[in-house]
Amino acid sequence: MPRRCSPGTRLYGLIGSPVKHSLSPLIHCTFYERYGVDAVYLVWDTVPEALAERVHALRSLAAGFNATIPLKEKIIGLLDGLEEDAAEIGAVNTVKNGGGKLWGYNTDYLGVMKCLGRIQGERALVIGAGGAARAAVYALYRLGVSRIIVANRSMDRAKKLAHWARGLGIDLEISSLDDAENAARRADIIVNATPLGSKSCCPDQAPPVIAAIHSGQVVFDMVYQPLETLLLREARKRGARTVTGLCMLVWQALYAEKIWLGIEPSIDDYNYVVNEVVKYLSTSG
Ligand code: NAP
Repeated sequence: MPRRCSPGTRLYGLIGSPVKHSLSPLIHCTFYERYGVDAVYLVWDTVPEALAERVHALRSLAAGFNATIPLKEKIIGLLDGLEEDAAEIGAVNTVKNGGGKLWGYNTDYLGVMKCLGRIQGERALVIGAGGAARAAVYALYRLGVSRIIVANRSMDRAKKLAHWARGLGIDLEISSLDDAENAARRADIIVNATPLGSKSCCPDQAPPVIAAIHSGQVVFDMVYQPLETLLLREARKRGARTVTGLCMLVWQALYAEKIWLGIEPSIDDYNYVVNEVVKYLSTSG
């Protein structure tokens, strides 16, 4: 039966740029249909220069929204308050509107924790030093991983991330991308938090760690298009356990719904939504 809108339809959505190919509307609307929630989820392409105006409009229109690249840090100054984890991470991907007051949350790290949750390991290598890497480091720290190395192309950005981490008491080493292979060999968990391998950047590329991957490791690629990146394909061949970026994408969305609607996400919800996304991707090319 087709969904219908009503005078009570709640508005949710995503701001960021670019957002034209985002999977978030599909993920969230699949969830609304599953639970019979009278809500819609749209995307609003928003560049940093237009952020203040957009947030002003959404304050009176939307019940909540997500923020993505390049707004996760910039949005903080426009909000009325931050949940503690979002404040520690210094990035917001989910905003709840409570009677015109906007509260910022971070569900990216919850997505990482959920996807890595049952994983045992002491040493992790995170490749990348942007916002996604920060969420990964925070999640690994919360999962009790005691040795974290961050390898990044630009050492300046890696140093900034290390400075942030030390401020939270996270003991973190940094490495150049050229040395990532050495760190990867000794890591229990390897996380790619760069766009390397993504459809939009370079699907035939991977972070320079493949030769070091072996069985007993977990390799998590935050890239979700394609679903199986070159890194994950090679990791699987080498006997490592793999975790896809789609896992994180769907869990961070389900945790945003928990904040907005109070619905505790279940593994059945996760499987249902993943199935819909995979169906969509397999027919959309
Ligand atoms: P970001 O803040 O722009 O950071 C990008 C990072 O990737 C930086 O460390 C950058 O290095 C590195 N990088 C970019 N291009 C590179 C290249 N050609 N070679 C080597 N390193 C490169 O982006 P982000 O928000 O952290 O996102 C990173 C990736 O994670 C994106 O692909 C994004 O789609 C994905 N992501 C996925 C999810 C999910 O739910 N699955 C959530 C968030 C992000 P420099 O510092 O040297 O520029």
